[in-house]
Amino acid sequence: MSYLSKTAADIVPYVPGIQPQGPGWVKLNTNENPYPPSPKVAEVLESSDLTALRLYPDSDSKMLMDTLAKQLGVPAENTFVGNGSDEVLALAFGAFFGGKQGVRIPDISYGFYPVWAQLFDVGVEKQPLGEDFTINPAAYQDAPGVVIANPNAPTGIALTLGEIEQILRQNPKGVVLVDEAYIDFSAEESAISLVPKYDNLLVVRTFSKSHSLAGLRVGYAVGHVDLIDGLQRMKHSFNSYPLDTLAQVCASASMADTAYWDDTRQRIIQTRERTAAALQEMGYPSLPSQTNFLLVRVPEAIKLYEYLLSHKILVRYWNKPRLTDFLRVTIGTEEEMEAFLQCVKQY
Ligand SMILES: *Cc1c(COP(=O)(O)O)cnc(C)c1O
Repeated sequence: MSYLSKTAADIVPYVPGIQPQGPGWVKLNTNENPYPPSPKVAEVLESSDLTALRLYPDSDSKMLMDTLAKQLGVPAENTFVGNGSDEVLALAFGAFFGGKQGVRIPDISYGFYPVWAQLFDVGVEKQPLGEDFTINPAAYQDAPGVVIANPNAPTGIALTLGEIEQILRQNPKGVVLVDEAYIDFSAEESAISLVPKYDNLLVVRTFSKSHSLAGLRVGYAVGHVDLIDGLQRMKHSFNSYPLDTLAQVCASASMADTAYWDDTRQRIIQTRERTAAALQEMGYPSLPSQTNFLLVRVPEAIKLYEYLLSHKILVRYWNKPRLTDFLRVTIGTEEEMEAFLQCVKQY
């Protein structure tokens, strides 16, 4: 006899990438940043008063909201923070799409979207990517909601700001959720500049990738105050204290250190371009990436995946339609990518 609720019994959970324990791995499977967090994070941690941990954290994360507002050039009331962007995205699905039919998402995108859709009883209409794995903005029209990762994952391909605005113009009746987890590695502009113009735009971002803080669990959203209010309603119906006290000060310190953030993201972009060129030379082309990963075309990709794994190099493979001839490879340090390229060469 099962004690599961119908929701828990029916849901098909997201499968996160493997987090291997122990030394010796070249870990290129979950798009983490290979560089350590800003040294300012260590500084604030060392000077933090740990007796403050006896108190609940600031539920609104006011200090972090103010830092975000300052750095992004938006009013603090237009920001919202959560325990990783995964939490912010989940709350957004509940707040804006729950119970609705026909919410449009690309057929190949972040694997968590269909899970939240199921959890919050959202009917999704998956829009197929083109032959070249691009999103066609014209396919997203008059929907009760739209969810786009820009740049998209796992393709790495970005829409221009003009194309995002086209989707906004075409969807006056539903929220357009733009997941910008990888925008800091892109030459395209963030949609945050469109927030004052469109009250149905919610931009979601994370500290996990470009701020090297995947382990801290901090994400945020920027949008019209009414959308922020919707997120608040969901948050205070689930967990009023999603960000712990230390996460708030660490994320603020990281956000303020723009020089370090800019330096590490530029290094990753350069390593990405070099890696893509080297793979291309070996006969393995990648989709044009605007992220910190490459989707590399490899016939029977599972074989290279297993070969790399046997040499303790971990990348991502999906046994899913249209993806079986691809590996997704996170951009690591120069040394890590050299080890990866050597192994591919041997293969
Ligand atoms: C990594 C990722 C996230 C999740 O980020 P967290 O802030 O670590 O929860 C969200 N969306 C996409 C597309 C991602 O790749």
